[in-house]
Amino acid sequence: MGQDGFFDRILRWGSGDGRSGSAAAGRNVHSTEFELLEALDRPVCAVCDRARRAGDRYISGVVREGVNDPGTRDSWRRRGGLCARHWRAFRSQESSPLPATIVSEDLIASYLETGSPGLDCPACEIEAIAERRYLEALGRLESERVEKALEHGRGFLCLHHLEGLSDGPVHERFRERLRDVLSDLAAFRRKQDYRFAGEPAGPERDAWLRAMRVLGGDV
Ligand SMILES: [Zn+2]
Ligand SMILES: [Zn+2]
Repeated sequence: MGQDGFFDRILRWGSGDGRSGSAAAGRNVHSTEFELLEALDRPVCAVCDRARRAGDRYISGVVREGVNDPGTRDSWRRRGGLCARHWRAFRSQESSPLPATIVSEDLIASYLETGSPGLDCPACEIEAIAERRYLEALGRLESERVEKALEHGRGFLCLHHLEGLSDGPVHERFRERLRDVLSDLAAFRRKQDYRFAGEPAGPERDAWLRAMRVLGGDV
């Protein structure tokens, strides 16, 4: 627990169902697995997707209540605020400009008084914690459940998260998914040939985007 309860709060804001503490642990494990399987339905890296959402929930928590919380504001001053990616996430929140006004006034005044504290983005930390949690949950999932999710789902793991996943049948299944992406890339390229251009578009139509996400994560 942080001295001002900050970490308790950021973990609460970053967690899937807004709960914290051991009483909710069983439920959290269950919802973590459910969230992963749900993400595998979509053409994204399931771990990147869930981690980004945890960061977004944290920022939305700060926008809603954190700007009125002296502990959070102190912590942001000590950590130098957000990285550029998370300022973009802050900016994309549908809220009045007041929360941004309050925190940026704090940060710029603090910079002028005491100099730069260096940047230690709290939203990046939330994402890193979520990343570990989801990757561990994925390692615990039975391969049959992953198989079932991938049978109709279009999800995958980016190379970074595939490397972080322990060896075993689930790891092997995600490697196979990369081969699917590769064959979809070849199918897309083939249809650029005028002789095949009239063929209806299939699952290969967004292969380029999935491939970017495989290589770059949350693209
Ligand atoms: Zn990823
Ligand atoms: Zn960040």
